[in-house]
Formats: sequence, structure tokens, C-alpha cells
Amino acid sequence: VPIVITLSVATFCVWFLCGWLGGDALERAQNVNYVVFDKTGTLTQGKAVVTTAKVFSGMDLGDFLTLVASAEASSEHPLAKAVLDYAFHFHFFGKLPSSKDGIEQRKDEVLSKWLLETEDFSAVPGKGVQCSINGKHVLVGNRTLITENGVTIPPEAERFLVDLESNAKTGILVAYDGDFVGLMGITDPLKREAAVVVEGLKKLGVHPVMLTGDNWRTAQAVAKEVGIEDVRAEVMPAGKADVVRSLQKDGSVVAMVGDGINDSPALAAADVGMAIGGGTDIAIEAADYVLVRNNLEDVITAIDLSRKTFSRIR
Ligand code: ADP
Ligand code: MG
Repeated sequence: VPIVITLSVATFCVWFLCGWLGGDALERAQNVNYVVFDKTGTLTQGKAVVTTAKVFSGMDLGDFLTLVASAEASSEHPLAKAVLDYAFHFHFFGKLPSSKDGIEQRKDEVLSKWLLETEDFSAVPGKGVQCSINGKHVLVGNRTLITENGVTIPPEAERFLVDLESNAKTGILVAYDGDFVGLMGITDPLKREAAVVVEGLKKLGVHPVMLTGDNWRTAQAVAKEVGIEDVRAEVMPAGKADVVRSLQKDGSVVAMVGDGINDSPALAAADVGMAIGGGTDIAIEAADYVLVRNNLEDVITAIDLSRKTFSRIR
């Protein structure tokens, strides 16, 4: 008798809390057919690191890094942070291994003295950033941003980029005054539990999908590592909710897991929206659940709990 009471009290508490917090999200979770994952910061750790920087013009590598870091300094994108970190370490660590002490602590102060002044900065959602430096137009972003501004990517650089992308890295391209200058390769490791969770969802009969603004080749390479076959890449921020709605058309129940500002419309459109704890506040507000441990295993826990709870109530 005590076990039965404990169980039903626990079940009632869960049911009550979910009804109170997030409408019928817990009830809907039992019927989920699709779990749509954002890539960056959701399947991956969101700790991007630059692994390569290569100049394809006559520019000095140090000057190139200063230029890119200056352009990215006003961006809040995780990729921008990686670029600044790399440039900072290149300039202040590479040559001075013995004088590292205190520099990390004074990073902001050091950066503010060393970065170039920018004008007319703007973020181009899903593509990159643009600004003016020394009166010259600077573009930092993906292939689309560079080519739609009429800049030609030399074949040698294109080959280098394809190679990076095939290895699951995101390429960041840089143009200065209408000319292509160089590029950087960025890696963002998968979360430790990502592949196990994808496998677990398949076992529950749930179809996993990857949804990202990143390019096709990188997305496919990451999807392969994590075990997802259904990939939707190069989706502009505004298009993410449309993907969710298109999956719902045949009556399917869709869960969306995301962390960024660009995921919030999709989180709101989904039957079950799950925001990564530590993600953007806007994403958290749009979601039904918050994965407070920032652990994807809780996606499975939610579906499992819902199935158990509602089969018991019935
Ligand atoms: P995701 O859906 O993976 O979170 P986003 O929609 O934020 O991706 O961005 C899509 C792509 O646009 C990135 O993979 C990158 O190539 C480019 N991009 C966006 N912001 C920046 C930036 N600040 N610097 C360089 N590239 C960027
Ligand atoms: Mg993201």
C-alpha cells in the first residue's frame, strides 16, 4: 500500500506541476513522433574553437586575425567568441609563452586597446557580420554572405573550405574591400551523450531530425557522427519554425530542442518545446521545458515519464 500511495502521489505531483507550468506539454510528450534538434549549442557543446586560419591573399596572418577579431567584437554569436579567443591567443600567447600571467584576466582591457575601430556594424542573421574598418567594407561569415556581396572565392580557398566542411568544421570566410582575404575553420565538439540519446530515441520509435543554419556539408558530417539521417541545413532563422510546422502537417507530434534566439519561434511552434538550460533567455521563455542540467538525456526522460505517467492514469 505505501508503494502504491508513493507512486500515485509522485505521479500526481508531476502531472500537477506540468499542468501548472507548461500546459499539457507533459501529456503531449508521450505521443512525440519527431524530435528536432538544433545543431550548434544543442547537439554540440556550444564551445566553438578555431582550429585553422589561412590567408589566401598577401595579408600578414597577424593582421588578418586582428581584422577578423575586430569585426566579430560586436557580435554575440558563439563563433565570434571563438574567433576573438584565437586572435587573442595568437597575439599574446604564441610569442610570449613566459608572460601569460595575468593576461587572461586583463583580456577585455587588452582587447579594447588592440582591436581596430569599426563603423556601421551589423549582424546578418544566419550568415555572419559586416562592418567598415579604415573606411573599407569588411565581411565575415559563410559562403552565402561572401558571394551575395559579389566577392569571388578563389578555387584554392574553395577546396580548402570543402575539406574543412567534410570534417564537420564550420568555415568562416573573410572579405576586405571587396576582395577575398582568407578563412578560418571552427570545430564545436558534440555533447558526450548526444549519440546515445539519438539511439535511444530511435529505440522509442521517435524520428530524430537535425535543424541548422550551418552549411550542408558540415551539417551532414556532424549528423553522421551523431547518428541522425534526417538533416535540414542552411535554414535561415525565420525558416526554423516553418520546418516544425511542415512536420506537423500530417498530424505528427513534434518536439523541438534548441538554445538560441533563432530557435525560439520553432520552440513556440513545436508541440513540445525544450530549451537548453544556460541557453538564451528568449529560447527559455518560448519553451515548455527547460533542460536545466543541459543534458540531452532529459529529452528521453521527459518522453518516458510522460508515457509512464499517462498510461498509469488511464
Ligand atoms: P545555427 O542554426 O547552427 O545555430 P546560425 O543560424 O546562428 O546557426 O548561423 C548559421 C551560419 O551563419 C553559421 O554556421 C555561420 O556560418 C554563419 N554565421 C552566423 N553568425 C556568424 C558570425 N558572427 N560570424 C561568422 N559566421 C557567422
Ligand atoms: Mg543553437
